Amino acid sequence: MDKAWKVLTIIALMVAVFFGGYGLIYAANNLRAVALEENITEKHDKLGDEGEASEVEGVETVEDPTNGQATTTSGKPKLPSRQKPNIQGDIRYIDVADLDKTLILVNKGWNLPRDYVPNDLVTVETDFVSYALPERRQMRAEAAEAMLVLMEAAKEEGLGLLCVSGYRSYGTQKVVFDNKVKAVGEEAALKYVAYPGQSEHQTGLAMDLTSRDLANGLTSSFADTAEGQWVAMNAHRFGFIIRYPAGKENITGYNYEPWHIRYVGQEVAQYIYEHGLTLEEYLEADESFLENEENKTEEIVENMTGEDIIEDDIAA
Ligand SMILES: [Zn+2]
Repeated sequence: MDKAWKVLTIIALMVAVFFGGYGLIYAANNLRAVALEENITEKHDKLGDEGEASEVEGVETVEDPTNGQATTTSGKPKLPSRQKPNIQGDIRYIDVADLDKTLILVNKGWNLPRDYVPNDLVTVETDFVSYALPERRQMRAEAAEAMLVLMEAAKEEGLGLLCVSGYRSYGTQKVVFDNKVKAVGEEAALKYVAYPGQSEHQTGLAMDLTSRDLANGLTSSFADTAEGQWVAMNAHRFGFIIRYPAGKENITGYNYEPWHIRYVGQEVAQYIYEHGLTLEEYLEADESFLENEENKTEEIVENMTGEDIIEDDIAA
C-alpha cells in the first residue's frame, strides 16, 4: 500500500513537471508574440500621424471558427499617404521619400530605383534551403523579427517550413530575370518573374517559402502542403500577407504564388486577410499601369505552373 502511494506520488509529480514546463514554454511564446505586437503597434502609432486620415471603424470581437479563440475584427487601419511618382521617360519610379515605408507598393507600375538598398537589412537566423546565398537570407529588421516568430511558430506545429529567398538586390533580380527569359522566353517569364526594379524582394519585406517535402522548390503545389495551408491561414498573425493570391491575377499582375509572403505589419495583414484583399486594393492604388498592353495578364500562360517552375530563382 505504502509503495503504491509512492508510485502514485511520483506519477503525479511527473505529470505536474511536464505540464508546468509546457505551460512555461507556452507563456514565454505568448509573451514574445505580445511584445512583438506591442513593438509593431508602437512603431505604427509613431508613423500614424503622417498618413492621410481615413476613418477607423468600430472594433468587434468574433469567434474564430478555426480554433475557437476570440479574434479581433478591426476597421480599416489608417492608410499611409499616397505614394508619389517620379516619372523618368516611360518608367514610373517610387519617390525617394516613400522608399523605406513598410507599406511600400512595388509592382509592374511602381519601380524601385536601381540603386535602392534598404538601410536596415539583417540576416534572418532561421531555417533556409541549403543553397540560399547570404544576400537572400536578409530582410529589413522589423520584417526579419516577425519572420523569426513565424518560423518558430511553424516549427512548434511540427511543420517543415523553409525560407528560400528574402532580399534580392536589383543586380540579382536582373540575373534571375535574364535566366528565366533565356529558359522560357520573355512573355512566359513575365508571369512569374519580376523585371529588375519591380521585385518586392528588393524591398527586403518579402520572403519565398517552401516545404521540406517539396524538395525545396517553389511551386503552386506548396498551397496543398501542410506548410502552405498553415501559412495561408496564419501568416497574417505575424504581419505577413499572401501577396499574389489566386483569382487576383488581373490586379497584382502575377499568377498565384502561394509561397511569396510580404510583410505589412500585423494590423494591416489582419485586415487584408479578413477582407480577402490584395495590397493594391488595400492601398486603393492607382492601377492604370495595367492598361499598358505589356502588363495585361488576361492571357495567363496556362502550361506554366507547378512542375515547370521547380527551381530556385523564379519568383516575383
Ligand atoms: Zn517571391
